[in-house]
Amino acid sequence: MGDALHEVELFRVRLPLVTPFRTARVTTAVKDALLVRVRTSAGIGWGECTAQATPAYEGETIDDARLALRDHLLPRAFAGADLGDVRGHTSARAALECALIDARLRAEGLSLAAWLGASRPAVDAGVAIGLVADLDAMRRIVATYVEAGYKRIKCKIEPGHDVAVLTAARAAAGPEVLLAADANGSYALDEARRLFAEIEEIDDLALQCVEQPCAPEALADHALLVEQVRTPICLDETITSVAVAKDAIVRCACDALAIKVGRLGIEAAKRVHDTCVRGAIDALPGGMLETGVGRAALLAVAALPGFTLVGDCSASERFFGVDGDLTAPFVIDDGKLRVPTGPGLGVEPIPERLARCTIARERLTARR
Ligand SMILES: [Mg+2]
Repeated sequence: MGDALHEVELFRVRLPLVTPFRTARVTTAVKDALLVRVRTSAGIGWGECTAQATPAYEGETIDDARLALRDHLLPRAFAGADLGDVRGHTSARAALECALIDARLRAEGLSLAAWLGASRPAVDAGVAIGLVADLDAMRRIVATYVEAGYKRIKCKIEPGHDVAVLTAARAAAGPEVLLAADANGSYALDEARRLFAEIEEIDDLALQCVEQPCAPEALADHALLVEQVRTPICLDETITSVAVAKDAIVRCACDALAIKVGRLGIEAAKRVHDTCVRGAIDALPGGMLETGVGRAALLAVAALPGFTLVGDCSASERFFGVDGDLTAPFVIDDGKLRVPTGPGLGVEPIPERLARCTIARERLTARR
């Protein structure tokens, strides 16, 4: 951005979730996040690090991100140096990048969506449902979200909890709502083949896609599946960089990409989006249970025209309850979430809520 960085505050926050969220890899009962607040020559900006507390979902954890920021990224940023000699730590980098962009755009009075060239005023709402042992309970949950207006229901699945889950969800959702599955990389290739064979025998299941059936690194396995099955395959955890996204597309290892701004950063997410547009590959916006700060960035990116599929943009209430988010809540209105139009992210943490949710805080300056 070219602005001088004067000071950074890191807020480790913890928000209770309305219900624990279970996937094939991890159960999340409270939402931990690291908020980055920068003070630059342009002003104040905010970013959210979406890394999780444990490395079960992706390798980088919140604590890794904090140390990467404190010891490696911020000293370079304070010195006005390039961050290019640090590898990895994409979530830490993404949070800092977001805060710097937010500060600059606030100074210019320009919204993030407008800066990105995104023109959708609102984004279709979709919701992810964690693994639930009791299928009757799951049917009720699906019906509640359909009633609330969600246009896409995504069910987490794992080996042993898949076809029955999806059949129950389709019955509860009715034929109009989009239905997707997310395996979070929990199937071996043979298990995935069996899964697709069973899914494709069921009339009316009509899945939008299956997200990440096999492990993140298993590009060749995904390429085989794309060749052999009819259901669209969407890669999520695999997509850790612009280069990997290009690789997945060139190797025909997916029919669609889930683009996560929290993992890639704003500029890389835009470049992956542009790659999908050039390659005529479907894309959907992927969520990370963000607080309102990260959710604002997610919505601005999701407003880009190349997002051809409904993804993970949910209302704040789905995770944090009516007034539990750090920012003013994002609400679902006629099946959509409005893209913020204020300068920068267009939102910021409400001070009392931030104070209530902060469990650790540190201030870093150029002169340490
Ligand atoms: Mg996913």
